[in-house]
Amino acid sequence: MHDPSAEGNDYFRCDFCGSGWSEQRPMVEGHRGSLICAPCLRLAYASVMLRGEGIGPRAGIGCVLCLRTVDGPHWVGPHDESVVACRECIERSARVLEKDAESGWTRPE
Ligand SMILES: [Zn+2]
Ligand SMILES: [Zn+2]
Repeated sequence: MHDPSAEGNDYFRCDFCGSGWSEQRPMVEGHRGSLICAPCLRLAYASVMLRGEGIGPRAGIGCVLCLRTVDGPHWVGPHDESVVACRECIERSARVLEKDAESGWTRPE
């Protein structure tokens, strides 16, 4: 998300954990300025892709990254149960960060 009350790096905040952007915390952007940071993506990937966890779509709550309500498991953010990421966005974001060598991000195994 974009936080208009903040300046500098904190203007860019992860929608899931609320942390501000930094070089150690690269982020992937979704629709309408939504953001997921590298550490959250690591948790999301391990949970949904590796352990098969996650919740199904709930009424009225869509993926914050693609703004769609899709079937399948969703990762629930640590701070707000209504902020969820769908499997497709987790996979897409993983590909984006993986390609960005500077991010140093690798898929958890
Ligand atoms: Zn985060
Ligand atoms: Zn999504």
